[in-house]
Order: sequence, then C-alpha cells, then structure tokens
Amino acid sequence: MYVIDLTHYLDPKGAIAPERGPARKFADFVTAVVAHATDFDGPDGTPGPLCFRCRKRDQRFVETGLTEDNLVVWRCLACGTEGQVSNWQGSFWDLSAGSPSA
Ligand SMILES: [Zn+2]
Repeated sequence: MYVIDLTHYLDPKGAIAPERGPARKFADFVTAVVAHATDFDGPDGTPGPLCFRCRKRDQRFVETGLTEDNLVVWRCLACGTEGQVSNWQGSFWDLSAGSPSA
C-alpha cells in the first residue's frame, strides 16, 4: 500500500518536481490518478491510468476513487498494487471543481 503526499512530488510552482527516472514516472502516474479520480464531469467508463508497475508487461488500467475523507485511492486488479494520495486538493490535477473559471 503506497501512502502518498502529493506535495512531496511537486515543486514550489506546483509542477511535477522529479525530472527523470523512476521518481518522474511515479509522479506522472500519481498525478494521472488524481486527475482521473476527481474528473466527475468526464464520461463514464473512462479507463484510469496505466498501472506503473505492470504496464510494461501488460496494459493494465487501475481503478481510482475517492474515499469519504477525501483521499484519492487507486487499485490495480492485475498486480494488486494499491495506494492512497493526500494533499491533492488545489493541485493542477484536481479536477473536482470542474473547468477552471478565469
Ligand atoms: Zn498493476
């Protein structure tokens, strides 16, 4: 079970901090999970992001969701990897407020 604080992966401007390597791949995955889980206006049945662990072997999409205490969670049915993400509110990937209003 991965327990993620999203702010640990962001720079002071709110962009993804790691520039390359496994940390970058993981940060890309976690932000995609947040966007998918908070996109309430998106079409139903849109697949989640590809699992960062087993996508090399197989194209496996993870399931995402929101818990009652506002943690973004994901689970990969193929490899069993799961995690939860906190402090995603207000990030670029927080789509829960709908389209940004200028
Ligand atoms: Zn997986």
